[in-house]
Amino acid sequence: MSKESTQTFRCSHKPTWCPGCGDYGVLNGVERAMAEFGRPPHEIAVVAGIGCSSRMPFFLSTYGFHAVHGRGLCVATGLKTARPELTVIAVGGDGDALAIGGNHFFHAMRRNVDLTYILMDNQIYGMTKGQTAPTSGHGIRTKSTPHGNPDMPVDPVWVALSSGATYVAQGLSSNPKQVAELVLGGLLHRGMAFINVLSPCVTFHKDVNKDTLKAASSELPAGHDVTSRGAALNVLIEADGSYPLGLIYKDPASKPFDERVASTFSARAESRTVIESLVASYA
Ligand code: SF4
Repeated sequence: MSKESTQTFRCSHKPTWCPGCGDYGVLNGVERAMAEFGRPPHEIAVVAGIGCSSRMPFFLSTYGFHAVHGRGLCVATGLKTARPELTVIAVGGDGDALAIGGNHFFHAMRRNVDLTYILMDNQIYGMTKGQTAPTSGHGIRTKSTPHGNPDMPVDPVWVALSSGATYVAQGLSSNPKQVAELVLGGLLHRGMAFINVLSPCVTFHKDVNKDTLKAASSELPAGHDVTSRGAALNVLIEADGSYPLGLIYKDPASKPFDERVASTFSARAESRTVIESLVASYA
């Protein structure tokens, strides 16, 4: 594959995010990853749900699909299954992925569909102006929890790992170079590649910003075995609430959904042939 320019993936629509929104860094990382990946825009489709981060397909020159709230992964699964020759990327925010789309998130991970899924995690509902979301911290005061959030946050990396994703990584939007490396790794991986990017909302959740996220992040332990799901889960336990950054898990024996569908149908066709020949021999 030849390399493309990052400009190849820009379209004439300028991003409409607030100045300073973390999602600019994610877009930058995605463009770099696509350029390095080398496929032209017409061979890539980006599918999104609803929310600020889900506007990303509008700002790219690839094919794009703006699905309904929480259903980006469903559309992406259908698209990849029907058009396996396309590279399909799904994007969304934490509310889209883990509240209304939570059920689909879990099933897409366990199916190991050959997708790259980028979650832009700002720990708030940004587009609707600042309500508590599934990854919001315990106790925070928002418009929907004026007395403090009584819930504990979901860890998307934990859910993806324990649900069966075969490539799991985490990055900071303030480090687009790392985001690009993690997304490129996801594009090259056969199976569900989940990348959680901590991407602050500078307008409606000012307490969680690039400095606090960086301070709360941690490096992976030296010698971490990325091929062990157990070691990956242990990293999250040992992180004790901090955000481990980098490639956390990659299954070298990943068998994606399309391969399992093909082998299931060919096994069924074989057993049908055996049954038909048995029936014919008794006729
Ligand atoms: Fe970004 Fe928040 Fe503005 Fe939405 S509201 S564009 S998440 S800064």
